[in-house]
Amino acid sequence: MQEENTPERNVPWFRKLHWQILVAMALGILAGRIGGTEIVPYVGWLGTLFVRLLRMIIVPLVLTSIITGVASVGGGRSLGRLFGKTLGYYVATSALAALTGLLLVNLIQPGASADLVSAEKRDLPELESAGSPIELLLDIVPQNVIDAAAKADMLGVIFFCIAFGIAITGLPDVHRKPLTTFFDAAFHAMMRLTGGIIMVAPLGVFGLITRVVGETGFDSFRALGLYMVTIASGLTIHMFVTLPLMLLLVGRMRPSVHFRNMTEPLAMAFSTSSSGATLPVTLSAVEKKVRVPNKVSSFVLPMGATVNMDGTALYECAGVLFIAQALGQSLSLEQQIIVVVTALLASIGAAAVPSAGLVIIFLVLEAVDLRGPEVDVIVGMMLAIDRPLDMFRTAVNVFSDSCGAAIIAKSEGHDEVNAQVVGDDDVFLEND
Ligand code: ASP
Repeated sequence: MQEENTPERNVPWFRKLHWQILVAMALGILAGRIGGTEIVPYVGWLGTLFVRLLRMIIVPLVLTSIITGVASVGGGRSLGRLFGKTLGYYVATSALAALTGLLLVNLIQPGASADLVSAEKRDLPELESAGSPIELLLDIVPQNVIDAAAKADMLGVIFFCIAFGIAITGLPDVHRKPLTTFFDAAFHAMMRLTGGIIMVAPLGVFGLITRVVGETGFDSFRALGLYMVTIASGLTIHMFVTLPLMLLLVGRMRPSVHFRNMTEPLAMAFSTSSSGATLPVTLSAVEKKVRVPNKVSSFVLPMGATVNMDGTALYECAGVLFIAQALGQSLSLEQQIIVVVTALLASIGAAAVPSAGLVIIFLVLEAVDLRGPEVDVIVGMMLAIDRPLDMFRTAVNVFSDSCGAAIIAKSEGHDEVNAQVVGDDDVFLEND
């Protein structure tokens, strides 16, 4: 197995994108710490601009990527097999994550000693919470696909694109060929645009991190210390033990290679706290560096960004048990199982945007009858310290999607997946 590709050796470290992003993060922490809220208006806009650029390309990128991918897989059996593997992977890894959260909260008992009096409380942001599971299913089918695209309703867009891709495969050559050529060409143009946006990532990351550190500071993190340690430990175990073991044992790949190929998307997930905004970067890295073919990545990644959220599932589960502990209520085994199952459903329903996981926690709390003003107060306090946890769980969500794409591609016979570390940053702008 080759470790590095040769061109990278001649490039000085400061010209490599992942180093530039890491340095931008460090500078952002420094600037936010020193400048506080006053510096935010001067550099915060860089982060906003970067996230806007990423959001701008999500819908056309997902649209062209899925249509091209599904049209190249062909309908029928192969698509069914891919769908089965993808769902199997999503459910298995999210369940493992939720169970890790359950285990750790029972072991560490962070709620028993939580200092809820000195914690800072904030009002919850206005985010749409998920409806019942049936509503969730019905919502997948858009009533108007243009409207779904305009609102960036990703599940609706994905559903339409899969159906449209299948329809293309059934056409006679005279119609199928121009359509596949068109969407394939449009997809390559979108990937090139994505590559261009990734190149300015260090500036965006600097703006985003400066704003987070400048506005939040570090003080409010102390009160709920053990709670943060519990969730962070769970996320660490899932990201550095469970998922690497899946890569190693199920995918027969070296986890270290996958980690290095995923540096940019991970840094992006961390700085934006949004799997949705990170999706263009994830797609680009998984295809160009991990070398997953488009027919797999276009299927696994957009759907994964929307429904496969391991970090969020872990967070829901651990968060609800923490609240129960803090209120002095012990949950029976049966109730804890209900928490695990609803945490899974909640992670599917959570939008791929910042803090979605915290807002959707009410769905899981309801399932075990935890409600009332005291619960609202604790959730409000959890919000005050949510950002760093959100950054971490978003990175876990994105990492899990990428592992899924690699494992599924390998199982489909693509041995080139993760065969080497691809470190040359220009890979994002390559003409293919
Ligand atoms: N911010 C997370 C994401 O975009 C969702 C969450 O809040 O858990 O993946």
